[in-house]
Amino acid sequence: MATRRRRPCLVCGTLTRNPSRCDPCQAAWQQQQDRVRGSAHQRGYTQQWRTTAAQAVAQHRAEHGDWCPGWKVPAHSATDLTADHIAPKAQGGTDSPDNVQVLCRPCNSRKRDQPC
Ligand SMILES: [Zn+2]
Ligand SMILES: [Zn+2]
Repeated sequence: MATRRRRPCLVCGTLTRNPSRCDPCQAAWQQQQDRVRGSAHQRGYTQQWRTTAAQAVAQHRAEHGDWCPGWKVPAHSATDLTADHIAPKAQGGTDSPDNVQVLCRPCNSRKRDQPC
């Protein structure tokens, strides 16, 4: 494997193998980005949530197979199941398994568009 050339950090000029910033500057930059966009935690997607969501989908599959309960539509078969919060984090929902709803992707995005 070719060694990547060292280049000066865009911020402080320290030579680094990172594409644009040295590690400390990269970390600071990332933090700033998180503040701008809202951190992953604020958006409701923590590592814990991802685990809970993956488990919810796996459990749903084990119990119901590739079957979407439907969001404002009749239940239907679906292979692209995803898990989402029943009560959105913004409205005080939690990451606990009883606040998880498994729907197919189209139903999930419909739900996101019209949450009630
Ligand atoms: Zn730097
Ligand atoms: Zn569906």
